[in-house]
Amino acid sequence: MNFYSLIENVVQLKPANIAIKIGNERNISYSQLGSEVSRYLNALSALGARGGDRIVVQVEKSLPSLLLYLACIKGGYIFVPLNTAYKASELTHFIADAKPTLFITTIERLDEVSALVADIKTCSAVVLSGGDNQDLSSLSARQSEFAPTRASSPSEVAVIIYTSGTTGRSKGAMVTHDNLISNVNALTKLWDFSENDVLLHALPVFHVHGLFIANHCALTVGAKMLWLNRFNVEEVAEAIPKSTVMMGVPTFYTRLLSSASLTKSLCRAIRLFISGSAPLLSETHELFEQRTGHQILERYGMSEAGMITSNPYHGVRKVGSVGRALPGVSVRIVDDVDVSVSQGDTGHIQIKGPNVFKGYRNMPEKTKEEFTPDGWFRTGDLGVFDEERYLTIVGRSKDLIITGGYNVYPKEIELILDAEPSIFESAVFGIKDSDFGEAVTAAIVLNANSNADTALLIENLKVQLATYKVPKAIHVVNQLPRNAMGKVQKSLLREAYSSD
Ligand code: AMP
Repeated sequence: MNFYSLIENVVQLKPANIAIKIGNERNISYSQLGSEVSRYLNALSALGARGGDRIVVQVEKSLPSLLLYLACIKGGYIFVPLNTAYKASELTHFIADAKPTLFITTIERLDEVSALVADIKTCSAVVLSGGDNQDLSSLSARQSEFAPTRASSPSEVAVIIYTSGTTGRSKGAMVTHDNLISNVNALTKLWDFSENDVLLHALPVFHVHGLFIANHCALTVGAKMLWLNRFNVEEVAEAIPKSTVMMGVPTFYTRLLSSASLTKSLCRAIRLFISGSAPLLSETHELFEQRTGHQILERYGMSEAGMITSNPYHGVRKVGSVGRALPGVSVRIVDDVDVSVSQGDTGHIQIKGPNVFKGYRNMPEKTKEEFTPDGWFRTGDLGVFDEERYLTIVGRSKDLIITGGYNVYPKEIELILDAEPSIFESAVFGIKDSDFGEAVTAAIVLNANSNADTALLIENLKVQLATYKVPKAIHVVNQLPRNAMGKVQKSLLREAYSSD
């Protein structure tokens, strides 16, 4: 079954429901959404796209970007979203790997992209909108509002997501229609989504969080999305009273907390705040609850598997935990030789289930390495289960520090540093060291009007931790380097402090 059929059902059964609201002036009903998606699909076909073709898309978030995504899915064209931050030199790899038929870009980048695809006879660069009648949106306006939905086989690829890959080449994770269907069905049930919901959507759409989780939860149940092209505290604060659910990365919540407008009464219509993509600080969770009365629901997902675990909607949400495995998904924690560890011990997180992707495009060997012989996917994350099988993520295995032969899990030290009254947040990482192999190092961000005596901090840590875990150096920084999804980029910290 084609994933788009789930949305098509809503188009047929609830045509008058509002699907998308943009600002105060624009409402798009499901019936209009269905027609627009068909027009976009017909425009893509007119440009030569055929089922199974890849369509690379690097555009800013906008209504046309959503219509383009849905049209690709409906038509069986494989959607390949790219982060808007990628530069021309980085695009060469994606073009060579994906071999697209179309590269959808912006008017500003058209010349650059046209030059990059010039050598591929079968690929053309096309502007999404604002391109003087030559763009995809203008072309779609001249198309029929009817188009068939292409039937898909269970293992057919719907989307290729290039992982943000901090080491080596970025890998194209092939996500199938069935992956999308099983994941959204589990999530809408778990989080109680219904057509009465209004989802505040301020996430970017080149990443699974905004593209799959937010869009799919709303559009497959006939709910309304308040569509903001980017996160801006004032605009989000204005939209919160009109919303029932907000999905965000942790930085959304820290920024909202810094605004005086965030109050209990502002959040009176909200039933659920969800956070993911990066760890939510316990402090943020607690401050948010004090200010709004809402416990943020934290969950865990990744490009290769959509959503994996979630704290419950009904039931106990544990601070610092990402909750339990979604129904139908299995999670285990193993040692270095893939044997399950005892409950309470830290190890590698491995997963199995209908949400797990098909493999990395053009990388059969890499794909094989990332799965165990009995079919579990190695997530690359480290975690621990509590006695109720709630999972806590301890970090990425590549961020594990091995110092003098001992394993150090950065999170253990970060939690202690974060609890210091003068410290807002911290990141602990290893740098090369001739004596220890790696030396534990920390970067801290101070709270406003706070000072820190880093030598004293180190002394205090020695009282609480085995000496090998205590950072050899603590650096005070203005902010931690983060990518667009709010993930701390430890590779940049390692680079910055390696030569010290
Ligand atoms: P991406 O494929 O870009 O979505 O990145 C997936 C990675 O983000 C996961 O493997 C985790 O390392 C991290 N991640 C996602 N959600 C959380 C969370 N709630 N807490 C901690 N890390 C998370």
